[in-house]
Amino acid sequence: MSDVLCDFCQRTWTHEIAMVEGHQGSCICGRCLDVAWSAVVEGGLDDSVKDWKCTMCLEHREDPCYRSPAHEEAFICRRCIRVSAQALRKDDTDWNAPGPVRRS
Ligand SMILES: [Zn+2]
Ligand SMILES: [Zn+2]
Repeated sequence: MSDVLCDFCQRTWTHEIAMVEGHQGSCICGRCLDVAWSAVVEGGLDDSVKDWKCTMCLEHREDPCYRSPAHEEAFICRRCIRVSAQALRKDDTDWNAPGPVRRS
């Protein structure tokens, strides 16, 4: 499991950090998901550029997305942020998942 990296910060997966897997082995760690959640879901940020593709679902969406500041090829769409946050909440971790979905 040491070869699992977060696509957004390149952190290696350890037991302390929750990770969510997307398609084709792409991963986002709980910390990046937290940042993405506050930016896109709570802050209404949209990092989309022309022809961006979500690293997690491999789709281009009309959704706003979060782009990793450190690894500019890594994007996550709002839908995947929500799905991933939900997956982590169900997970048996003590990680503090981002709060409940609020209407913007
Ligand atoms: Zn990360
Ligand atoms: Zn996506």
